[in-house]
Amino acid sequence: MPASQSDKPVSAGKKTPASAPPAAERDVQFLPGVGSKLAALLKQKLDIHTLTDLWFHLPRAYEDRTRIVPIGSAVHGESAQFEGTVIHAEITFKGRRALQAVLEDGSGRIRLKFFYFQNAQLERFKGRPRVRAFGEAREQGFGFEIVHPKVSFLHDTDITPVSETLSPIYPKTQDINNDRLSKIVRHALAELPPAHELELMPAPVLQHLQWSELRAALMLVHSPPPDVDMRALMDMRHPAQQRLAGEELLAHQLSMRIQRQAFKAERGRMLAPKGVLAKKLLATLGFTLTGAQQRVSGEIALDLKQAEPMLRLVQGDVGSGKTVVAALAAAAAIECQTQVALVAPTELLAEQHYRNFQRWFAAVDATIDVVWLAGKVKGKAREAAMQRIASGAAIVIGTHALFSEAVRFKALALCIIDEQHRFGVQQRLSLREKGVDPANRTQSYVPHQLVMTATPIPRTLAMVGFADLDVSVIDELPPSRKPVQTVVINGERREELIARIETALNAGRQAYWVCTLIEENDTLQAQAAQASYQRLCEALPLARIGLVHGRLKAKEKEALMQQFSSGELQVLVATTVIEVGVDVPNASLMLIENAERLGLSQLHQLRGRVGRGSAASSCVLMYQAPLSQHAKARLQILRESNDGFVIAEKDLELRGPGELLGTKQTGDMRFRIADLNRDQELLERVQAIAERFAQKYPEQSKALIRRWIGHSERYSQA
Ligand code: ADP
Ligand code: MG
Repeated sequence: MPASQSDKPVSAGKKTPASAPPAAERDVQFLPGVGSKLAALLKQKLDIHTLTDLWFHLPRAYEDRTRIVPIGSAVHGESAQFEGTVIHAEITFKGRRALQAVLEDGSGRIRLKFFYFQNAQLERFKGRPRVRAFGEAREQGFGFEIVHPKVSFLHDTDITPVSETLSPIYPKTQDINNDRLSKIVRHALAELPPAHELELMPAPVLQHLQWSELRAALMLVHSPPPDVDMRALMDMRHPAQQRLAGEELLAHQLSMRIQRQAFKAERGRMLAPKGVLAKKLLATLGFTLTGAQQRVSGEIALDLKQAEPMLRLVQGDVGSGKTVVAALAAAAAIECQTQVALVAPTELLAEQHYRNFQRWFAAVDATIDVVWLAGKVKGKAREAAMQRIASGAAIVIGTHALFSEAVRFKALALCIIDEQHRFGVQQRLSLREKGVDPANRTQSYVPHQLVMTATPIPRTLAMVGFADLDVSVIDELPPSRKPVQTVVINGERREELIARIETALNAGRQAYWVCTLIEENDTLQAQAAQASYQRLCEALPLARIGLVHGRLKAKEKEALMQQFSSGELQVLVATTVIEVGVDVPNASLMLIENAERLGLSQLHQLRGRVGRGSAASSCVLMYQAPLSQHAKARLQILRESNDGFVIAEKDLELRGPGELLGTKQTGDMRFRIADLNRDQELLERVQAIAERFAQKYPEQSKALIRRWIGHSERYSQA
């Protein structure tokens, strides 16, 4: 045992600070056996600060050391506890230096083997000591052995009892071994308040959900009785674990509701225009809105008229026409002499919006000022942009640069956020500050929020990530949309691919060739695209082929997109930048290299670039062989469905919620115990009671949030 572990005075009871906070909030440092060094490790490595954190730090597995198994009944591959006399011990040098001890109990013998040991340990095994050993028995040559068993030496005089409970195995961490952590958790559990003080769930709710009391649940998961359903426990599906996960999910639901309430309690500008601008805008579009677009626009218009700020998510598949809906909302704000901010996650997407809005609004009223602001806008240009924003420019479009402190608006009334799933809740909330006049806080307004996502979000995820938003769905595509025929082809079959392109070009159509690379690295992506471009030029010497990638200057990119748009270029080789790029109805073929590297929803987005014109369109998903069964199954889903919702649901099943929502958002949604895949059913049950719970038990709601989410930045803002 290293010195640092044993030199701590164990003076339980004396370490409690002078003015003791309630046990739940007490610092782990005041536990017996925890010094400042260990406390720092707990904080750093495990994010464990208080006793509450320890109580809810659940084991990931269990060992059954409640029974002694006769050595003669050892089973290969099963962990068990044996007890007997060491009849022989030696250090061997066959192959690898090892300490070996033979344990006998009358029913058989088993070899205990250590590769990491100190010579002094050999002495302890000498003189026929009685030993208890726990570990996985493996059949080896003529008998069983355990490599690196957990060993305790028993003394004749005392009868050491076996554990009365299963032994918890906590999530692995370097620097803190499991025995030590188990001991600390035991000390923390000793400080658990009585059940009625700890419990935050009112009795009727516990009864309704058929949940056990919290205290009992915690004791069970940390020290389960020997007759517990071990399978359920290992799968995290034991009622005690589910009850804890459920409480956590409830706390998250409540937190989002409270944030929403706080947001709704602020003042929004009442935007009730006559609708002159919107009418003019519609007249210049050249198409009529779909029924779904009209309905969603109506819902937004109604929200904007209210004195409370809007919080609305618009979901709609790729190509369902969300941009026009956003523009109509913007028109309402502009007609009321206020400002609109439109934020997109990538520069390219933001640029596309910028071009669209500029074109649309210039056609309607040339005095409407549309400002472009991205991270790349620097120096004088930036200053000028800021100046225009501060003096009231009607529309500001850009990337997350708009979230920056320095950007000040004159009268911001509406924030439109495209592709919500790539932004965090935190960022979304930071925009609301933009409408606030720091000199006159009480007299200022909070901007309405319109969030648009092209990735349809499965219902269960929407419940968690967007519990604070009202939702509108554009569930209808413009009539010109045609389902895209999708095929999956080995990327090595180049002739077949080239033939497909030739057929499309001969019919007067255009094609996209998309290169994918996992790296978020512009240079590498550009190189890969360059290579594909050259090979295509060789295979199709007569075709007019262009290449766009993230390394090009905005002007160059725009020029190329323009050439493709006008038909000057027939084939556009591109990195995934076109996911959000041009809208070219004459393009009827899309080929995607290494499609297996992308998520289903992203592939679906890409595919949405074709099927916009009158011709039948197709999408070729190329893969690099060999392709795993799993990967094949994923690509098949795209062959079978053109419905973004279906695809997103499948994507969720296959990849898990983290990847689907993007890193930013999962950062906000890291659960201690709950798991969105495993606990969907639980989530639905909790969701069903959250609203009533919040109304009926406001105090408990606050306490639950404090317990599970703490005083995080997110919460303190609400
Ligand atoms: P998304 O919902 O994917 O953002 P967009 O807003 O980019 O879709 O719209 C895709 C294309 O469909 C654009 O060219 C847009 O002008 C066009 N569009 C939008 N609404 C309609 C409509 N009602 N009828 C015909 N075309 C439409
Ligand atoms: Mg869009």
